[in-house]
Amino acid sequence: MKLECNFFAGSARILNEETITDVIKEKTREFGQEDPFFVMDVGDIVQKIKVWKLKLPRVKPFYAVKCNDHPTVLEILAALGTGFDCASKTEIQKILELGVDQSRIIFANPCKPASHLRLAAKLQVPLMTFDNETELHKISAYYPEAKLVIRIRVDAPDAQCPLGMKFGVLPADAGALLATAQTLGLNVVGVAFHVGSGCGDSTIYHEAISSAKMIFEEAEALGFSPHLLDIGGGFPGTSSSSLDEFAENINKALDEFFPEGCGVEVIAEPGRYVVASAFTLATNIIAKREVNDDAGSLTSVMYYINDGVYGSFNCILYDHQDVHPVMLQERNNKKPHFTSSIWGPTCDGLDQVVSKMSLPRLPCGEWLVWPDMGAYTLVSAGTFNGFPLPKVMVVIPHHTWLYLEEHLGNNVSMSFLGAQNEEECLAHDQHEAEGSAALTVNAASHYSTCAAKTLEPTTLEDYVSQLTFIDIGEIRYWARLIQGGAGLGGDGTLENMVFSNREHHQAVSLLGFFPEGHGEHHCSAGPSCKDSEATMYTSG
Ligand SMILES: *Cc1c(COP(=O)(O)O)cnc(C)c1O
Repeated sequence: MKLECNFFAGSARILNEETITDVIKEKTREFGQEDPFFVMDVGDIVQKIKVWKLKLPRVKPFYAVKCNDHPTVLEILAALGTGFDCASKTEIQKILELGVDQSRIIFANPCKPASHLRLAAKLQVPLMTFDNETELHKISAYYPEAKLVIRIRVDAPDAQCPLGMKFGVLPADAGALLATAQTLGLNVVGVAFHVGSGCGDSTIYHEAISSAKMIFEEAEALGFSPHLLDIGGGFPGTSSSSLDEFAENINKALDEFFPEGCGVEVIAEPGRYVVASAFTLATNIIAKREVNDDAGSLTSVMYYINDGVYGSFNCILYDHQDVHPVMLQERNNKKPHFTSSIWGPTCDGLDQVVSKMSLPRLPCGEWLVWPDMGAYTLVSAGTFNGFPLPKVMVVIPHHTWLYLEEHLGNNVSMSFLGAQNEEECLAHDQHEAEGSAALTVNAASHYSTCAAKTLEPTTLEDYVSQLTFIDIGEIRYWARLIQGGAGLGGDGTLENMVFSNREHHQAVSLLGFFPEGHGEHHCSAGPSCKDSEATMYTSG
């Protein structure tokens, strides 16, 4: 197969033995790393497509771009030869820009703006769905040569996101609509349905495919020659889900109503199936509040993280997802657990990510990891309150790389790997520069929100050395609480603080934490010491 697009416009990291968790751990240990980020596993997407071809060999996937339009997702799928379900002119242009042929696109929005229809005509993207009479008149006016697919309504009873109340003509009303298409001289080539996104019960596809067969017959009776069946989306995509039951029901129904050799091409429009498990989100606990009862004992803990329902977790509101975090740092499970809630970073009370779960007591700065966050997350996220969207880090297992190289030919080049390092370093430097300014400004507020934390008896050094990252609010807080080694000056600066870790010491200096004239590092090994030999750093 020939590669039709530039592979990896961005950069990716090749994984050897490392797991996604290893990558996340490594990233969180980077100096100053506090922002939430995604890790996208290309291997997971390639695996999904391989499994699809194995389980549903007769059904060609047309990926629903709206589910996640990250450029690498689209590039990989273009390279693997899938088709694309686009809902707007922007999505169509995005796919064409990858070098994908028009025949691999279905404009699967039954209610299209006229300007988008005109552009589809101009770009010669003929395959499109409709489900109402007005749309037929529009198509007749702007793109009469289009190849039309009638979308019928068949609803899975308990879909995560039902679609039937908005789209699809009832099978009983399809005949009249087809007659209008015929009167207008339009070309109906097939039948589509979408049983609902996150369809819970795969037996519905049997009913849907059987209904589609009836509409095929009605269309034929009117003189059309339909040859395309589009079974839509609805397939599950989390790492714990399986395509098996869906494939079994669909294959059985296809054998019954559209047996092999009948001349009908079968496509589907999977969205969440392709991307849900490929994206893992890492978020940082930026603040917490401990709630005590009247007797003063701890009843619950509220954690505030730096991504919420206005960002990636919009999937909770729009896509009705249940999200579950895992702790990045393994913890002793025998430690007491507390009723906890998790909140996003914005100032809106609606911004709650998890209403209730049991967690051990976690410090600020701890990382929470959210698997299965690839579907309907980044695409519909905003930056309300000025919180930026998480960046996406792309990784690809070595074996996946070899597979792509073998199956996609010489067009895959590994040159991006060299470029990556430089780019990453630049990005990292820039991030550090921006990060330090931001942290300095935010130090005071961060300090107050973290102050609800109770310290377990330990030394400052122990605390600091355990941290994967450190920020100024927390240093200040510890400095105040811990007697001895360090004290907080009247102007809120730190004096005579001892650091066991050079990076943490540098972090504090970089952040402009030392009062004027007190900015030097003092190494316990004396002025002749080389950095590599130093073990202790003091301020003041
Ligand atoms: C959203 C959508 C899809 C994708 O649905 P999933 O349930 O994510 O697979 C497919 N087709 C159409 C027309 C859609 O609107």
